[in-house]
Amino acid sequence: MTDLFTRARGVIPGGVSSPVRAFGSVGGTPVFVAEARGAHVVDVEGRDYVDLVASWGPALLGHAHPEVVAAVQEAAARGLSFGAPTAAEVELAETIRTRVPLAEQVRFVSTGTEATMTAVRLARGATSRDVIVKFAGCYHGHSDALLAAAGSGVATQGLPGSAGVTRAATADTVVVEYNDVAALERVFAESGDRIAAVITEGAPANMGVVPPAAGFNAAIRDLTARHGALMILDEVLTGFRVSPSGWLGLEPGLVPDLVTFGKVVGGGMPLAAIAGRADLMQLLAPVGPVYQAGTLSGNPLATAAGLATLRLADTAVYRTVDTRSAELQSAVADALSRASVPHVVQRAGSLFSVFFRDAPVANYEDAKAQDTAAFGRFFHTMLDHGVALPPSAFEAWFLTAAHDDAAMNRIADALPAAARSAAG
Ligand code: PLP
Repeated sequence: MTDLFTRARGVIPGGVSSPVRAFGSVGGTPVFVAEARGAHVVDVEGRDYVDLVASWGPALLGHAHPEVVAAVQEAAARGLSFGAPTAAEVELAETIRTRVPLAEQVRFVSTGTEATMTAVRLARGATSRDVIVKFAGCYHGHSDALLAAAGSGVATQGLPGSAGVTRAATADTVVVEYNDVAALERVFAESGDRIAAVITEGAPANMGVVPPAAGFNAAIRDLTARHGALMILDEVLTGFRVSPSGWLGLEPGLVPDLVTFGKVVGGGMPLAAIAGRADLMQLLAPVGPVYQAGTLSGNPLATAAGLATLRLADTAVYRTVDTRSAELQSAVADALSRASVPHVVQRAGSLFSVFFRDAPVANYEDAKAQDTAAFGRFFHTMLDHGVALPPSAFEAWFLTAAHDDAAMNRIADALPAAARSAAG
């Protein structure tokens, strides 16, 4: 693996196609995966791991579900990409609308980044306003305007969140502390008539899992509606994962204007979507003036994987994922308590993460104040015992419907030693 990583770094920056995979925050050499099935991944040296990454969310059913693989194989035999409309994408859009009625119309893209970028453009086009409000610690992909970092205050004009992002690109992005209704009210009081949209994750899971405080999403809905701004609910991670209809299924009554999907909706293939009220969606080209396009958008293999996944993701699947998640949360908490390691387990539906600190986390500032070195030690001991966790203290842990008793037992067996490592 070390040899492969050396070769990889010679030809690929950092040896990886997406930064977190490089193990930068936990140290060591990344696992190069050769194959994955059910709850397991197997590395290039044939070592088997119980997987708690699930491709960062998409593998709700487990890896390589036979019916999903068969659907993709059948689609592949009919052609890999047409650049033309297909019956399958109509069926997938109808399936999404059945599960999430506010998704009256759906436009398919290939990545979550494209979905949120398009949602922002659509909101600006619909309102003829410039400003986008996002929350510190929420991740919406890597488009320039959304790669904004918070300054030192609670609500600040976004600063470029990466080299190569210009000040101009984030000048119309305002970053507010998560779960801070008063700060959001202040932003609207100051510049409500310039705000096109507030974008938020259904439940943030990209700074670790930080559930919205009671009434927080409702306050966003209320403020945006009162000021003629749109609410974009980014369900790329939570969509079709935490319930049959995503976070919206867990917070009935919340009605955003636009919603973005990714990950599970593509069943492990590159597919994402923007959806929402028909009058807004009709502003997209070719009907309306807001441009958006994609050579591979609605790709037939990705569409087939998404359709098969949603067809299989019935209430029993969600029940299993919920149960396994609850089991794992208490097993982790128990092991860390026994080893006297400060920790907080936070959940949003079946998503959860473990913060190595002793007080609850309400926002990004809290999330950063944890013992990431302890997580690194915990991570590596789990890996040594054949359990692959997300390689960062700021990520959710993902269960799948394929995590059976044997997989859960292997995790349980690994936890005491990992907790002792975390204790230092
Ligand atoms: N939005 C959320 C909430 C995400 O979690 C992610 C990715 O993790 C994205 C958007 C970006 O999606 P992608 O990585 O497919 O571009």
